[in-house]
Amino acid sequence: MPDGVTVPPARPLLSAEQLREGVRRLGRELSTTYDDGVVLVAVLKGSVPFLADLVRTLTIVPLVDFLSISSYGEGTGRVRILKDLDLDIHGRDVVLVEDVVDTGLTLTYVLGELERRQPRSLEVCTLLDKAARRIVPVKLRFVGFEVPDEFVLGYGLDFGERYRNLDVVVAGDLDALRGDPDAHVEELYAG
Ligand code: 5GP
Repeated sequence: MPDGVTVPPARPLLSAEQLREGVRRLGRELSTTYDDGVVLVAVLKGSVPFLADLVRTLTIVPLVDFLSISSYGEGTGRVRILKDLDLDIHGRDVVLVEDVVDTGLTLTYVLGELERRQPRSLEVCTLLDKAARRIVPVKLRFVGFEVPDEFVLGYGLDFGERYRNLDVVVAGDLDALRGDPDAHVEELYAG
């Protein structure tokens, strides 16, 4: 950040306690909806903290798998699979675990990929829903929190790989971050 430019502070959206409560609620919903053997598919990397906390609230025994994707064709939702599932999901109940659903474009692509493998059921569990930004309608069966149309950071969500390890979710200043990915580091990592 150039000298003399001030960055507005990141705005708190969800505290660690609110996140814990929300994750516990989702855990209860999943535990009462599914039996042992449900496959939780997390999309790397943003959903890792959420997944890690979520699985530890479950009273059923899930299988866990990961997908890694990279976007291309900016704003089209087209993605390439960088790391595919290890498990065969054919005939299984599957829950796609997401950090945030924004336009819905990426999610729609990933759901299409999973659907082709003929799971018994396929639903989405997202920590955050930015419903106001939706371009493609998607059915979100399990939602932690609806958040406003702002760029969010923390609890897995990054900017330039920073901020994933915060245990809160904040709205960051996207213009400032574009100028300097560390724009909020000092403030958010203090004490
Ligand atoms: P969508 O395809 O729904 O527009 O967005 C998919 C991906 O974009 C999300 O899984 C997430 O990785 C990223 N994304 C969307 N909104 C945000 C945001 O506010 N903050 C961060 N850090 N990533 C976001």
